[in-house]
Amino acid sequence: MRLVILGGGESGVGTAILGKKKGYDVFVSDFGKIKENYKEVLLINEITWEEQLHTEELILNADVVMKSPGISDNSPIVKKLKEKGISVISEIEFAAPYTEATIIGITGSNGKTTTTMLTHHLLKAAGLNVGLGGNIGKSFAWQVADNKYDLYVLELSSFQLDGIENFKPHIAIITNISPDHLDRYNYKYENYIDAKFRITMNQTQEDYLIYDADDEAINEWFKTHTTKAKLIPFSLTKTFNEGAYIQNNKMEIKINQEEFTMDTEHIALEGKHNMKNAMAATSVAKLMQIRKATIRESLSNFQGVEHRLEKVFKIQNVQYINDSKATNVNATFFALDSMNAPTVWIVGGVDKGNDYNELMSLVREKVKAIICLGVDNKKIIDVFGNVVDMMIEVSSMDDAVRMAQRVSEKGDVVLLSPACASFDLFENYEDRGNQFKLAVRNL
Ligand code: ADP
Repeated sequence: MRLVILGGGESGVGTAILGKKKGYDVFVSDFGKIKENYKEVLLINEITWEEQLHTEELILNADVVMKSPGISDNSPIVKKLKEKGISVISEIEFAAPYTEATIIGITGSNGKTTTTMLTHHLLKAAGLNVGLGGNIGKSFAWQVADNKYDLYVLELSSFQLDGIENFKPHIAIITNISPDHLDRYNYKYENYIDAKFRITMNQTQEDYLIYDADDEAINEWFKTHTTKAKLIPFSLTKTFNEGAYIQNNKMEIKINQEEFTMDTEHIALEGKHNMKNAMAATSVAKLMQIRKATIRESLSNFQGVEHRLEKVFKIQNVQYINDSKATNVNATFFALDSMNAPTVWIVGGVDKGNDYNELMSLVREKVKAIICLGVDNKKIIDVFGNVVDMMIEVSSMDDAVRMAQRVSEKGDVVLLSPACASFDLFENYEDRGNQFKLAVRNL
């Protein structure tokens, strides 16, 4: 059996190793460059590869093809494979049959990483032999090849889900859905929504789907579709007999005739969106029958994930917060919503078709100055120019932070929450967040 892998990154190399171990004739083809460390791994494992081209004779003879999530379905080589009827799948689809482990799959537009890390933290603290994978850290396929865990918590993008046929998580979470990556979905929002819901398409009555019951796109989907999985909704506004909700500043989880309650003030994560993430992760912990005391302790000591509403420093009584991972309007909405002091907001970058008007009332209420940090800031200036007293354009992180210091006063917050991708001025969102933290430390 010939396994061809398109893309020699983390998921590609992980799949190659697993494929080799399972006796496939493996070939890796990357249209870009393959990183040196991955080349070494391929060499050691005697796996053949090519870079900066796709040689059709070596690809179109595949029995099965694993496509990395970064490669679009519209790329010429993928189209050719599909025309020939060769199945093109994702890493999780390829790897899942080779493990007996219980799989918890987490998708959504925002909150995936936070919810995945928190879920992993809850299960690990309870002593379970649990791995973490998907879009985070070491690839799932690689871990399956090493055969390490009884249980996996996987962060799944819509691209990973596009490439599944039989993959079925025992527990699925959809954190929320808002428009993102529409360039990969023919600019049709419904295609992107359908991609997210593929996480539940193979689930049975024995499985669970945990989802945000306040989410418009999710509720609309349920009007015309069904799933066999048992449903566990979570909400900030509604209450349920079976599900998770917040009432009188308490988080309530009701699952399988059992109840778990915790004061929200004892949960270390802050902000409404994080209460949702906490409800989703705690629902998994309850389904896995983790002891209440363990859950309580874990929720009270989980400090969050870098670059997501990360408190950096307080300088002259001004709190600096790094939310560089906010690459769309929805994420920034929750960031602004959780601010409870006058805010100097650093925003901008490469916008994927943002509608900034969704932020209007929060900006009026909370933002005293806007610092635009992008190559093209016109849209932001047009929308908010008349709304805030101060609007400043800068073109480096150092300048952004220095200006923020100048216009802020005791008790204010300086928030980097760009609502945009970062690649006009930075390598990626981590680079942007790290530069912010460095600039703040240098003040
Ligand atoms: P993802 O992995 O889906 O990108 P992250 O956990 O990395 O999600 O968070 C991305 C951004 O979204 C951060 O700015 C974070 O503060 C914000 N965020 C986190 N959880 C939620 C949520 N449930 N709803 C909306 N925004 C969220």
